[in-house]
Amino acid sequence: MRKMLDLLSLKLLRRIEIRYRLINSFLLVSMLPLVIAGIVAYRESSSASQEKVRIFAAELVKQVAQNMLQQIEKIESSSEELAMSERMQNALAGYYSKNPAERAAGHGEIIRLLLENYGSFEYVNQKYVLDRRHRIMDPQVFAQLGDGVARFAEDAPDMKGRPYWDVYSTAAGQNSVVMLRDILFKSNNRVAGTLFVGLRPLHFSRIFESVNLGYGSRMLVIDARDGHVIVSANAADGNAPESGLVVAVARNVAEGRDNFVSYRDGDNKQQLAAFAPVPHTNWMVVNITPLNALNTEVRSIRNKIIAIGVLCFILALVLSFIIARSISLPLKQLVGVMKATRTGNYLIRMDYEGRDEIAVLSQRFNEMASKVHQHNERLEELVAERTRELEQANHQLEALSATDSLTGIANRRRFDEALGGELRRAVRSQKPLALMMLDVDYFKNYNDRYGHLAGDDCLRAIARVLRTSSRRATDLAARYGGEEFAVIVAESDSANAMQLAENIRNAVAALQIAHEDSPFGCVTCSIGVTAVQVDEDMSTDTLLRLADVALYQAKALGRNRVALSDPAGATG
Ligand code: GH3
Ligand code: MG
Ligand code: MG
Repeated sequence: MRKMLDLLSLKLLRRIEIRYRLINSFLLVSMLPLVIAGIVAYRESSSASQEKVRIFAAELVKQVAQNMLQQIEKIESSSEELAMSERMQNALAGYYSKNPAERAAGHGEIIRLLLENYGSFEYVNQKYVLDRRHRIMDPQVFAQLGDGVARFAEDAPDMKGRPYWDVYSTAAGQNSVVMLRDILFKSNNRVAGTLFVGLRPLHFSRIFESVNLGYGSRMLVIDARDGHVIVSANAADGNAPESGLVVAVARNVAEGRDNFVSYRDGDNKQQLAAFAPVPHTNWMVVNITPLNALNTEVRSIRNKIIAIGVLCFILALVLSFIIARSISLPLKQLVGVMKATRTGNYLIRMDYEGRDEIAVLSQRFNEMASKVHQHNERLEELVAERTRELEQANHQLEALSATDSLTGIANRRRFDEALGGELRRAVRSQKPLALMMLDVDYFKNYNDRYGHLAGDDCLRAIARVLRTSSRRATDLAARYGGEEFAVIVAESDSANAMQLAENIRNAVAALQIAHEDSPFGCVTCSIGVTAVQVDEDMSTDTLLRLADVALYQAKALGRNRVALSDPAGATG
């Protein structure tokens, strides 16, 4: 389970940008309950309104059927009174007498009786007494109408003393609700005639015209046998048989189920109908409600729910967008600022407002950046300082590497470099270059007699002489090795160089460093000088060899002297 959660929250969700995660969660949280509540409410209200119709309509049709029965019974009982009255019995007896006068009187009496009994009722539109052959006893009635009424009475089933109720349609297309009742002679119980009382359907529809269930439902009285409409509150209903209804009702009655059916009408529209039979008749009071109309109210509720849903959706979208932005925008800025620090820019700062986690993060970032900046600056200072020190050390090292440790004047390395440089310069300037080599006389003996340390002191003293003698910036005195020294004298001809060498030799001798194992009694030196007009083919080696040869000559000639090289020796 935990792994699943991790997988969902880390692996899957973290692939999605924060703001989209937030927007989706907002929509989900706001829409899910709404959708579920909407569906539940729709289903509930749909079935609730069906149930309401079922209960009310069933009760309504029962009441209407009851009222109809009362009306019917009232008419039936008054008709029975009339049929059994002495006046009617006598009038009919007269009507069937052979005597024309009695016959006429009976006929007149029957017409009177009908008028007296039914003339004052506006809802009675037809009232006849038919003879045994079902002919209307009123000669004033049109023959055509008489035929229709006769056929109607003819087709009526055997009434067995009970009144029969049905609908009679005139040729003019007007309907009457008709009660047929046999009139029997009280004396012999034989049929004397038939009472035909036609009532306006309006009389019955008044019972329920004020009763309205709503939902576009309508109340009808139909013939249970074929679905013919007998009474309707609305003339527009016509009398088209609702065959689907009749079948559904018949099935319900047969199966003994409750008096509520659902069926499809001629237009294949679902209808809900409650029905109640009117006792003693083939009639049935029905209340028909189109399911579609019933659902109209429910649909309006559903539409409201949808409208609220859409509103919530938009609201959630806007809200989630704003909130997601408030989180992702500063985060993005933070990421941007952090990226900028990759180039080493730690002066960049996060702008932040509020006190949320991102603000804290931004604040911490700023503190961190300024700390890093401070550290960087200190580091840079330190590096600069170390670099300076290093440079200084390098200078010292360089100086040291060019200096002879014993005497403090230039060493052999420095001398070699300087000689090469002076040689090239002399080539360019076309001026003569002089070089002298100095070697201490009988120095081995000196060491042997006075010791090595004294020998070192002696070398230092000679170096001092060389330094003070070669004052020009271009002159360079160096320890060439052992107790041999060399002096470069730039831009100098042999005369000048010889003069300088002589000065040096004198100065060394003037030091008066005692040397008992020397024929001169003090430390002296021999110097070989060379001064040449250099050309491009000349090397430092040539120069050195020339000076060396001159030195050798000075030694050979007895030491403590200066010798000038013979230019021919340069090649020798
Ligand atoms: P010459 O007159 O022919 O030059 O005789 P010399 O004895 O001086 O002979 P050479 O030039 O060959 O002498 C070299 C001696 O110099 C050997 C060594 O004892 C001494 N020497 C070389 N370098 C040093 C040094 O750094 N310190 C000391 N004390 N003596 C050195
Ligand atoms: Mg030597
Ligand atoms: Mg020597």
